[in-house]
Amino acid sequence: MKPLNMVVCIKPVPDERFWDKIRLDPKTGTLRRKGIPIELGSVEKSALEAALRIREARGGKVTVMSMGPPGTEEILEWGIVLGADEGVLLSDIAFAGADTWATAYALAEGIKKLGGADLIFFGNESLDGSTGQVGPQVAEFLDIPHVTHVSELDLVAEDTVRAKFHIEFGFIDVEVKMPVVLAVEKEINEPRVPSIWGAVWVQDRRIDCWTADDMGVDKSKIGLLGSPTRVSDVKTIELKRKGEMLSGEPSDIAKQLFQKLRAEKVLPEA
Ligand SMILES: Cc1cc2nc3c(=O)[nH]c(=O)nc-3n(C[C@H](O)[C@H](O)[C@H](O)COP(=O)(O)OP(=O)(O)OC[C@H]3O[C@@H](n4cnc5c(N)ncnc54)[C@H](O)[C@@H]3O)c2cc1C
Repeated sequence: MKPLNMVVCIKPVPDERFWDKIRLDPKTGTLRRKGIPIELGSVEKSALEAALRIREARGGKVTVMSMGPPGTEEILEWGIVLGADEGVLLSDIAFAGADTWATAYALAEGIKKLGGADLIFFGNESLDGSTGQVGPQVAEFLDIPHVTHVSELDLVAEDTVRAKFHIEFGFIDVEVKMPVVLAVEKEINEPRVPSIWGAVWVQDRRIDCWTADDMGVDKSKIGLLGSPTRVSDVKTIELKRKGEMLSGEPSDIAKQLFQKLRAEKVLPEA
């Protein structure tokens, strides 16, 4: 069977341990992320793991790709330490301010420049923006099918995968021919942890950095200019709730709670 060419799109997301340090810029409405370390998000680790398991079963190549500012190489290196064969960073000031559509266009062009792929993996939704739009939009730009919410994946034939995906009240199984975009749920697998071998492996691997000119993209479709959506307003939610601890025996606490909820008219009078 033919070895598979796979691309895993990974987004640099703020390190979860520093989330309380992220602030909104009230003037621009953008997030102030300066000084916040980035990491490979957990759902992207699962997407990478799914690709690595297929490579182990069938052979082939796994490329990790990201669009982001300089410094994003760090998460591509992590992808390689975990087992990817190579990394590609799409980085250019012209990509800045991209909404999901312009991000997807750039990623799709990056994938085309690689020569296409049989399987293109995404997280179902990123840890921070969480729109879940980028994977399906890349599929649209490449004019190939996509499956989202993927929680199980098998190769069933030379050119076909079976994907089980989540719906509100259950699951649906589909068989789909390659090339296909697969947006996976975090629960699809338990990602491997980096090994010492990974630190050796990364030494001989390449991370290419492509600018908009390298890719020959249509500049009216990238960055802020190429973004059909605009953030019109953003707000920081200020919680005005007060916390109150009740003490006593459980039955006492329950009584006090009922009285308070009644006093606040959350519960009707007895
Ligand atoms: C109007 C507008 C302006 C914006 N301006 C900026 C800005 O100036 N700076 C900025 O940092 N962000 C900006 N953003 C946010 C940026 O568009 C999103 O971060 C990006 O499109 C991904 O969206 P998401 O997080 O909802 O991804 P989702 O669709 O939830 O992500 C799903 C999966 O897609 C893949 N993916 C997503 N993004 C990337 C990526 N960049 N590279 C590789 N794979 C990826 C990952 O596998 C991820 O798990 C802007 C958004 C809007 C709407």
